[in-house]
Amino acid sequence: MKASITIPLGLLLLVISCTVAQERKTESGLARLDGVNIMSRELWGGHKVKPGDENQYQLQEDIAYLSIHHTQSRATHVKYSEEELLRFVQEYHQGGETGKGELIRFRDIAYHYLVGHTGKIYKGRDENRAPASFTHYLSDSELEGARYKNGKVMPVKVVSKESPGNSVGHLTVSFICGRNSKGVVQDAVLPADSMAEAARLVAELLVKHDLKPSDIRAHREFANTECPGDEIYRWLRGDSMDKAGEGVGLKLIKKEFFKLNK
Ligand SMILES: [Zn+2]
Repeated sequence: MKASITIPLGLLLLVISCTVAQERKTESGLARLDGVNIMSRELWGGHKVKPGDENQYQLQEDIAYLSIHHTQSRATHVKYSEEELLRFVQEYHQGGETGKGELIRFRDIAYHYLVGHTGKIYKGRDENRAPASFTHYLSDSELEGARYKNGKVMPVKVVSKESPGNSVGHLTVSFICGRNSKGVVQDAVLPADSMAEAARLVAELLVKHDLKPSDIRAHREFANTECPGDEIYRWLRGDSMDKAGEGVGLKLIKKEFFKLNK
């Protein structure tokens, strides 16, 4: 007679789910979102960090700001799964073409965390590494005297677009958005529940890195870019589109932040 070992299916599933929860917990270190919906790189099929230029992967010990961004690939959630979209974004950052015939040499996906249409949160690059960027992040001194229009910074001295980077000290959260065949951004604001999940993520990250809601920035407030788009910007800063403004999103973030600090 052939010997066989039968493991009850329920037990097997329990073992697998415990392993996954544990994996998520050790990766992000977030109190409430851990094991709930932080998708580790393994879960979304992220590629390894590429060897290459250290300037594209600088160490950052102290985080001073949490900045808000969006992605805008032609592929959207209508046709592709979020895991696929994440891989497209990472592959683009790790070796896609800029459109000027040059290859992008980011060593990893540019952002630390990404939020999808479904409200799932995806772990991007290591938090101890500065984000990658196509833009120059203006320092506090470069921002002195700057004016703002709809939240978009107009610095006194124009900084060359040819010197991207200077991003050490930023923790980045990016919304996974798309653009249509004409290049117009679409799905900029995710469903309300997903935006609320993003607010919880931001609040947790502020607490984790000893930051305050006043340390939140939108990419357009410190670099020559439209990112994160008008809709997400309004969510953050309100209809005034003023960098001191408070939109639905920032109100939610503050509520969650104070709950965590109680
Ligand atoms: Zn951005």
